[in-house]
Amino acid sequence: MGEVTVRLDDLPLRDDLRGMTPYGAPQAALPVALNVNENTHPVPSEVADDILDAIARALRDVNRYPDREFTGLREAFADYLGNGLTREQIWAANGSNEVLQHILQAFGGPGRRALGFTPTYSMYPILTRATGAEWVAAEREHDYTLSPAFAADQVVRENPDIVFLCAPNNPTGTPLGLDVIEAVYAVTDGIVIVDEAYHEFAPHDAPSAVTLLAGRPRLVVSRTMSKAFAFAGARVGYLAADPALIDALRLVRLPYHLSALTQAAATAALGHAETMLSMVDEIVAQRDRISATVAALGYVAHESWTNFVLFGGVDDPAATWKALYDRGVLIRDVGIPHHLRVTAGTADETTAFLDALASVGSRA
Ligand SMILES: *Cc1c(COP(=O)(O)O)cnc(C)c1O
Repeated sequence: MGEVTVRLDDLPLRDDLRGMTPYGAPQAALPVALNVNENTHPVPSEVADDILDAIARALRDVNRYPDREFTGLREAFADYLGNGLTREQIWAANGSNEVLQHILQAFGGPGRRALGFTPTYSMYPILTRATGAEWVAAEREHDYTLSPAFAADQVVRENPDIVFLCAPNNPTGTPLGLDVIEAVYAVTDGIVIVDEAYHEFAPHDAPSAVTLLAGRPRLVVSRTMSKAFAFAGARVGYLAADPALIDALRLVRLPYHLSALTQAAATAALGHAETMLSMVDEIVAQRDRISATVAALGYVAHESWTNFVLFGGVDDPAATWKALYDRGVLIRDVGIPHHLRVTAGTADETTAFLDALASVGSRA
């Protein structure tokens, strides 16, 4: 490594990026890593074999640019989402973070504002500001829920160009009713993004915002393969929206942004959606076990429709986080006073977390 000669502040950085901190969940190689809501179950081996075959075939043509319109993959996502969707209504990118970035590039940018209900996904303000728009932090109720009137009133007051609704919400796990989405959509002329990154972990009869798309051309429903699909390392996210909105995203995407290898891997994985999702019920069972056990230890578990649990009543989150770290268990301090967040892992990982938390002493 060369000597450090300049600091970031010495460079001619954009003024609006000065003072920003990058996304930075710790990536430590601990035996039990339950900090970034991954699916900790590996891809089932019969599916892995199929994905490998698909990647091998794609590799033979890798001298050529890939299908810029990733047609086969969009068809596979339309099939997966059902509800009569067609590939014209589907977009995809390298993780739903890039999908969100495309929306912000097309509909946000300098002079515009994007609003979210905090605490919510930490990438919303980062993506908003990095694309030149202003971030507006709206509020939730004290239990992190959001009623239609409370949400719509704030949208009317702030009049943003883009509204983020995280359903269910990260980092709190809180469900969001379709009535909130309808109420917010009705009072804005802007884009309404419903981020359903954790939808597969919600009760099976919970309706998706995809059912609201008809007649709402400014509504976007984003999804990811990173969580339920156990595909975080492949970087694949997608959305469903009106075909005209998707035409707007074509203006800002880089040419051939989804590599041939990514398209091949994701299409093959979607062909095994049922097997890929077979662990979801097991993860939900571990999530509910976490909620019940942390409550028995004297903490407050917030209702979760996701693969993680936010728990409160932690006297000193940094100290508890470190005590768990020292016991080989990595969870997340999301910066909410007296709270920590833990991902539901395999049964063994979950047991390791719960045992470690109990040994730290309740309300350490
Ligand atoms: C994990 C997560 C995502 C997914 O990001 P990818 O870029 O698809 O890995 C999106 N939204 C929320 C709220 C998340 O928690």
